[in-house]
Amino acid sequence: MSGPAAGQGVLTVDLDAIVANWRDLSARHGAPCAGVVKADGYGLGAAPVARALLAAGCRTFFVAHLTEGLALRAALGAGPAIIVLNGFPPGADEAAGLWPVLNSLGDVEAHAAAGRADGQARPALLHLDTGMSRLGLDAAEQAALAEDRGRLAGLDLRFVMTHLACADEPAHPLNALQAQRFTAAAAAIAPGVPRSFANSSGLFLGKDFRSDLARPGCALYGINPTPAAANPMRQVATVEVPVLQVREIGAGDTVGYGAGYTATRNVRVATVAAGYADGYLRSLSGRSLALFQDRAVPLMGRVSMDLTTFDASDFPDLQPGCRLMLVGGAGNTPDDIAARCGTIGYEVLTSLGSRYQRHYLGGV
Ligand SMILES: *Cc1c(COP(=O)(O)O)cnc(C)c1O
Repeated sequence: MSGPAAGQGVLTVDLDAIVANWRDLSARHGAPCAGVVKADGYGLGAAPVARALLAAGCRTFFVAHLTEGLALRAALGAGPAIIVLNGFPPGADEAAGLWPVLNSLGDVEAHAAAGRADGQARPALLHLDTGMSRLGLDAAEQAALAEDRGRLAGLDLRFVMTHLACADEPAHPLNALQAQRFTAAAAAIAPGVPRSFANSSGLFLGKDFRSDLARPGCALYGINPTPAAANPMRQVATVEVPVLQVREIGAGDTVGYGAGYTATRNVRVATVAAGYADGYLRSLSGRSLALFQDRAVPLMGRVSMDLTTFDASDFPDLQPGCRLMLVGGAGNTPDDIAARCGTIGYEVLTSLGSRYQRHYLGGV
């Protein structure tokens, strides 16, 4: 493979680590999990990630949007189930064989009517809201459907699902409540239909959260699904960026927009070719670091759109053309970076964007 263009950062994705994480999660769950590859595989590349998981035995993939589903079908070919969480109108998948998640009684009616009209039951998932108040049939819609299950005629329900709101907080009372609500509603509405329940963190909540198909996303990509404890997952992603220039400034000189850093002595400023347009969030300004030969180099001043500055004073070897590890390495995981700026590892990964050269390790 050719090297990165001059000045371009490299996002390296360890597909073998993703596969190892999927196997680990499936073993914990006691059944093969799905792979959630929405948002371009949490920013790391839906097609290569899904191909690697498919080769490892994963047969079910979740995306959020119809367009993501169509692109994934083109990448994977016929065979694996591809489920669109946000749903789509009957026929909109253009015979790509995608399964919609039905998120309201209106969705149920539209797809059931289409199935009855062409005499072919439509494969779909039924989403019951048990505490998110976001998508999924609400309590009144669930009651209406339990009352008249004939409204499901024309559908071939593959799974009935719900989604946990607080799975990363094991002691939160909503977890048990959602499990109870889901068990009761699934039995009343869709008895005998396989169930899909836990996301990544839900896989760690115990037997009440088991189902026929868990839907891990973040843990596949190395995000800690158990934030209160050590991360059981393998790390997956690193971003290395080239140093474009190194310069020396003296006391009183300032660095970057807003003169966000003022030198009080001679310091060396290393400018790297990545900024907030590359998902290195601007809220990291003045409060982050990158790694050089496994040592922490402090960020100085504000993160700009395409450039970020680091204090190279203690690193005489750090010269133009060197690379800094912007994301990844000990103490610099997506979760670590997120903690510095008040967000979550999911946002760090999904923000990475398309300007890095992507380099995949392992896989197929
Ligand atoms: C994103 C999503 C998942 C995966 O969640 P993680 O926390 O990343 O494991 C599972 N189910 C639904 C409905 C989702 O939207």
